[in-house]
Amino acid sequence: MATAVAPRIFKNFINGEWVESRSGKAYENRNPANTDELVGMFVASTDEDVDLAVKAAQEAYKAWRLVPAPKRAEILFRAAELLVQRKEDLAKDMTREMGKVLTETRGDVQEAIDMTYYMAGEGRRLFGQTTPSELPDKFAMSVRQSIGVCGMITPWNFPMAIPSWKMMPALISGNTVVLKPAEDTPLSAYHLVQVLTEAGVPRGVVNLVSGDGPSAGAPLAHHELVPVISFTGSTSVGRMVAKACAPDFKHCSLEMGGKNIIIVMDDANLDLAIDGAVWGGFGTTGQRCTAASRIAVHKGVYKEFVTRFVERAKSLKVGDGLDPDTEMGPLINEQQLDTVTSYVEIGKNEGAKLLTGGNRLRGGAYAKGWFHAPTVFGDCSPKMRIAQEEIFGPVVSVIPIANLNEAIDVANSVPYGLSASIYTRDVNRAFHATRDLYTGIVYVNAPTIGAETHLPFGGTKHTGNGHREAAIGAIDFFTEWKTVYIDYSDKLQRAQIDNA
Ligand code: NAD
Repeated sequence: MATAVAPRIFKNFINGEWVESRSGKAYENRNPANTDELVGMFVASTDEDVDLAVKAAQEAYKAWRLVPAPKRAEILFRAAELLVQRKEDLAKDMTREMGKVLTETRGDVQEAIDMTYYMAGEGRRLFGQTTPSELPDKFAMSVRQSIGVCGMITPWNFPMAIPSWKMMPALISGNTVVLKPAEDTPLSAYHLVQVLTEAGVPRGVVNLVSGDGPSAGAPLAHHELVPVISFTGSTSVGRMVAKACAPDFKHCSLEMGGKNIIIVMDDANLDLAIDGAVWGGFGTTGQRCTAASRIAVHKGVYKEFVTRFVERAKSLKVGDGLDPDTEMGPLINEQQLDTVTSYVEIGKNEGAKLLTGGNRLRGGAYAKGWFHAPTVFGDCSPKMRIAQEEIFGPVVSVIPIANLNEAIDVANSVPYGLSASIYTRDVNRAFHATRDLYTGIVYVNAPTIGAETHLPFGGTKHTGNGHREAAIGAIDFFTEWKTVYIDYSDKLQRAQIDNA
């Protein structure tokens, strides 16, 4: 007789303790490659839980902001070391809850490691400026100050990397945190919070509330004691978050959708361009904000590129990301699969040429998961919906172009502006493209993905609202400048008047 084992319930982390939700409800988190596998139960938080977490973070802020930054850094260094030790297990759990292949989930954990070390290093910098005053016997400088409780709302496609991109700069700057991870990938956020706690983050400094967007995310964005909101997700939800932040003029950083392009010129190294297109288009099953969902190919090499690219797409091994032979995992959930299926229909109806894929994968090893074939549409016009809208799945639209100017016009014709890439061996073309592509990131002879943690990350237009994550831009977001003047002349000195 089979014994029923109650599934593990993962709780919220509030004020240094793992606690139930006030709602008493929990929801299932299932493996997208095999929905028979229950990864765990997570509590369904409500505004009451968010309120408790925010109040704990506000209380903890009083002491945390006064801890010297190099001491805060010591905790982050320890956290980075724990992440290194646990990398393999964390990656496996991430593949189970998110579906992407193990090599990629290892990369996701590595990004968190890199960000944690990088921001720990900032603990001994956090530089301000000193500069001469225009008046005698007067000292002028600027220093960074922390802000308070930072609310963080994150998506499922980078379950540990994205929370780390927000938490580490916020923490090193002296802020406290309430994290609301995506409902599909709370386990990786749970692990990250566990690591920070073991590394010595004091009670209340980091808090986690799991649950869905309207019930747990929205109350966080609206909470009057949260002056900072850092959001990554879709443009439509980002707009709601911006509206929630506007009345109180909260600091609000939005990292949103993308419709990224690879341009392949007629002088490109085609082997390299095809490698890049396969990785850019189908890596993470196309579920990256930086995925290359459009490829603009010069007519001179169009036929050869398309033939070879389609061959490669067809040969990709789709399956469970835990299998070392798998090259592309499932989609995150049924809704995302439905979105992809509907865009395939839209593409066909718009007159794009379906060159491979276009179907859900069913039966056998695919029977219990959300699998879709790698899909390529050819002869796309840049104005088609499949070439304009974010699909967030393994669907690539190939667009023929006649020259570089046309390619750049096509690239810039979408509402988003995250990442763009050009394959060419002509240095002039490379520099023209680098100058004229209106995106936050440009790659030359590399695909649209591959961000490093010490360089700014973010996009233009409907991708972002002018902030940048990672690098020093993240510190800029999570701190306020305070300008300090110290007059040691012992007399009233009026700037712009007494020294004119
Ligand atoms: P999503 O917008 O559906 O959800 C993101 C987060 O917002 C989740 O935690 C969700 O629970 C929460 N949320 C939903 N409704 C909310 C509400 N009303 N108020 C507050 N929070 C709410 O996005 P997703 O499906 O998780 O992720 C995919 C999207 O994220 C894509 O558009 C992708 O391009 C984008 N993304 C962008 C970047 C970037 O850096 N630009 C990185 C990764 C993903």
